[in-house]
Amino acid sequence: MGLPTTIAIDGPAGSGKSTLGSLLAKELGYLYFDTGVMYRAVTLAALKHGLEIPDETAVGDLAYKIRIDVQPPSVDDGRDYDVLLDGEDVTWEIRKDEVNAHVSPVSTYAAVREAMTSQQRRIAQENKVVMVGRDIGTVVMPEADLKIYLDADVEVRAHRRYQEMVERGDKAEFEAVLRSLKNRDNIDSNREIAPLKPADDAHVIIADCLGIRQVLDQVRELIKNV
Ligand code: C5P
Repeated sequence: MGLPTTIAIDGPAGSGKSTLGSLLAKELGYLYFDTGVMYRAVTLAALKHGLEIPDETAVGDLAYKIRIDVQPPSVDDGRDYDVLLDGEDVTWEIRKDEVNAHVSPVSTYAAVREAMTSQQRRIAQENKVVMVGRDIGTVVMPEADLKIYLDADVEVRAHRRYQEMVERGDKAEFEAVLRSLKNRDNIDSNREIAPLKPADDAHVIIADCLGIRQVLDQVRELIKNV
């Protein structure tokens, strides 16, 4: 078989999957699609519309009504892409604490997942793609040519996240970052629909002691052997 045309990368928050996915997509000339952005955009939309997050019906209905676009970056401020919510640039707003706090509960809702999964499948059918998320290898693209599950100890991930925030000049407290990651891991891994877990045929990479270059080298080897 030649180069894989669909690559799924899953793993918990802060494992480095977005950086890996973005570099890999650039190298291969494929579309990079970070599905977490979509769940974040639904969460932000729910907050902006003043919905109660536990109101599953209202949040689910909204997920079908909003328009989320991910397109090449229009501003040179460190972003990999623009995220538009109903035409408004929300690229950085979807990263704020309030969204972090609510995105995992919102992502448990069946209607939200249905709305997002069908859009993600369409994107996967239309493009050579590196798609990143929690359920890409298990649910969105179970037929992907190559599946990677990137993991690391939660303390290691929290340190990385904390460091990124400090470098961006954001206010950050390590313990709060750690708590937030543990909470998201717990909800994402234990939800009923499309929980975070490696697909049976995924290649699991534990990145505790690996830098992004070493992870990328391992994935290049896997690509050669697909
Ligand atoms: O990847 P990121 O941390 O931006 O994802 C934010 C949240 O979106 C995750 O914690 C998870 O709850 C949800 N998500 C998901 N399925 C995906 C991608 C993200 O449930 N495929």
